[in-house]
Amino acid sequence: MSLQSDYQDFLQRHEKQMSGPLAKYWKNQEARYVHPFRIFGNVWYVGDDWVCVHLIDTGDGLLLIDCGNTGATAMLVNAIWEAGFNPADVKWLVLSHGHLDHIGGAAFFRNMFGTKIYLGAPDAKMYREHPELSFIQDAGNVSEALVMPDVEINDGDVIRFGNTDVRFYLSPGHTMGVISCFFDAHEGEKTVRCGYYGGFGFNTLQKDYLIEIGDPEYKTRQIYLDSLARAREQKVDLFLGNHCINNDTLGRRKQQLENPDGPNPFLDDTLWARYLDQKRDDLLRFMADPKNN
Ligand SMILES: [Zn+2]
Repeated sequence: MSLQSDYQDFLQRHEKQMSGPLAKYWKNQEARYVHPFRIFGNVWYVGDDWVCVHLIDTGDGLLLIDCGNTGATAMLVNAIWEAGFNPADVKWLVLSHGHLDHIGGAAFFRNMFGTKIYLGAPDAKMYREHPELSFIQDAGNVSEALVMPDVEINDGDVIRFGNTDVRFYLSPGHTMGVISCFFDAHEGEKTVRCGYYGGFGFNTLQKDYLIEIGDPEYKTRQIYLDSLARAREQKVDLFLGNHCINNDTLGRRKQQLENPDGPNPFLDDTLWARYLDQKRDDLLRFMADPKNN
């Protein structure tokens, strides 16, 4: 062992991370910064232009839904300040699922502010038994580590955060511990129902992945379809994305800026069902494609 060999080891690992398929997500994350903005009433956007983070001002502490990509925590903290809040007031953090692009700030918020962390029970189990499925080993920074939740969310739980009751369902598919959640947001006299679905990606439905995790019959795909169908029954006025692509977060933000006195572009009570139907149709097409079987 020597400084020279340690440094060579470091360079090798760094080179591997920075040439891998996920490398674009670790490079220059600050280029993805989005100035935070109010979506509706007490619901704010503090994520970047790829992975969403939502802040809900509950009147008695702040609730975060997700905490950004690994390596992006400074950006999230800056966004919370820029929105006019103090990061130290983040009392609760709900994780959409256990993948590395949604859990970046978890350790920081717990260690710095004592934030209580919530994660779907099946993904807490995944952390204990198959931490490799979190993809944390692909993080750009070797010091990133998984954080076990304080509270494991189970299907049907209703949890009160300040003045906000959040109803949770497990929506297994993308991971087994994906949560979907529903709560009321308020702006003046107006109340709307927010809906959030915590993981849509098909990357974990690919055949090689499913075979590796012990699902050679690809049953997970049907589980995903069943979860979509169940969530679709919810009435949602305001669809909050998990990644910006889900609800065209930034396109709607652009409309907000262009027409600040116009109707709120985030309020669309048809979007939830339309997007979930689109994912269903996409997945059915994916399943019918011989190359995925
Ligand atoms: Zn994911």
